[in-house]
Amino acid sequence: MRPNEFQSFDFAFNHAVIGMALVSFDGTFLKWNSALSTLLGYDHNELLTPSPSVRTLLDQIHEIAELGTPSSMNIHPHRFQQDYFQPTGHLLSLEVSVSIISDGNGAPLYYFTQFENKTMIRQMETQLQDAENSLLEKENSFLQLLEGLPLTVVITANGIVQYANSAGLQLIHAESLDQVLGISTTNIVDLSNYAILQERRERYFSGNTIGSVCYLINCLNGQQKYVDGFTLPITFNGNGAFIGIFKDISQQMLEDERLIQSEKLSTAGQLAAGIAHEIRNPLTAINGFMKLIRSSERMNDKYFFIIESELKRIEFIVNELLVLSKPQTTHVSKPVDLLSLLEQVTTLMNGQAALKNLKILPVCADQSIWINGEAYQLKQVFINLLKNAMEAMNSGGNIYIHVLTNESETRISVQDEGCGMTEEQIKALGKPFYTTKETGTGLGFMITQNIVHNHGGSITVESIPEQGTTFTVIIPTILEPEETVM
Ligand code: ADP
Ligand code: MG
Repeated sequence: MRPNEFQSFDFAFNHAVIGMALVSFDGTFLKWNSALSTLLGYDHNELLTPSPSVRTLLDQIHEIAELGTPSSMNIHPHRFQQDYFQPTGHLLSLEVSVSIISDGNGAPLYYFTQFENKTMIRQMETQLQDAENSLLEKENSFLQLLEGLPLTVVITANGIVQYANSAGLQLIHAESLDQVLGISTTNIVDLSNYAILQERRERYFSGNTIGSVCYLINCLNGQQKYVDGFTLPITFNGNGAFIGIFKDISQQMLEDERLIQSEKLSTAGQLAAGIAHEIRNPLTAINGFMKLIRSSERMNDKYFFIIESELKRIEFIVNELLVLSKPQTTHVSKPVDLLSLLEQVTTLMNGQAALKNLKILPVCADQSIWINGEAYQLKQVFINLLKNAMEAMNSGGNIYIHVLTNESETRISVQDEGCGMTEEQIKALGKPFYTTKETGTGLGFMITQNIVHNHGGSITVESIPEQGTTFTVIIPTILEPEETVM
């Protein structure tokens, strides 16, 4: 260094906020600034005879410097961390960097050292580490808790499985976690449910809650199961993820289906009498015309027309009967024309009503009404309500069907003039197997209610003993679809 360079070095050295010192190769301070004496906790001159803890620092500098060569250390100073106790007993965490100063000819002169106080940073690092450890601990006990749950728990991130508890592995017939880690949810959820999966993702990303869901899933052994549950956003391993908690409802679905099935069969059986009555009339007509045709010289178109229309009527009634005994395993919602559905149901029930000297009187809206649902199931709702109404009336009378609609919902009431119900009977309505009839199943209303709820609707009842009962089905309406499907 030239003399004026020395002067500016001295100035910078003395006034630096970082502790600095020149140290001889035998480990004594040659020159140090006030930032260093303050940092180490001494008066400036006290560093002439270093205390044992300062001595340790100096020894450490020497030891570290021996590891490098002067030329390498000029480019990359060596650094080390050292805990240091000030004379007051206060513990500091120091970072010391050591380089070698050489003369103009490259001969090493002394060590140039800088001391930085990293105590605060170290403390913060320790606190962070502690927090991370306790988070990990919490995550571990959380996972242990999930492991013990009898419900299926899966954690996914970006649609990829990150975790599944043992109930989950059992559910999809996996032998170990490895078999499911890293696989996509689209490999588990059945293709037919992708739209639901997609819709839920979109709902989440547009800031809405995602709530509960029912999926059809494919197990690893090829078996299919229905699961019901919900998903929530969580943080897992420090990243955004979803936790899903699911219950296997396959068995329950099967039982519900069986129940609906048994009720349908019993409905069909009881309807048989009415149907037989309805079919007998056209059959008699056909029989008569056949005899006429046989005896007449030439074929008469009018006879054929009548025979054809009577046959159509038989076909219609038989088809309706078949619908009742057909299992509906796939529930597909479609726009349903409510008024024509009601017309079909009343046509079907008229025969049975006539046998009991009853009249079904529909009072319908003059505009068409569309609801989203499953036509077969909705028919079952009105068949059940009409059947109950008819069974409540033993000495003739009228059953009124009123349809009231607005933009969002439609109310369909079935009003009878029958025996009515007491408060207790109303309370018991909907409990499976509750019946006051000798040949009743006590399932009809429960199924009715179930179907209405599945269609997003509700059902209410008003009744006066000895006067009659009105059941009102309230169901959401939709706009008329562009293409008519029913
Ligand atoms: P079921 O018709 O086989 O008895 P439901 O579930 O259809 O079973 O009806 C349960 C009970 O509710 C009936 O047994 C009857 O006591 C009562 N109930 C239902 N509808 C009516 C009605 N319209 N009038 C009077 N009682 C009714
Ligand atoms: Mg019934």
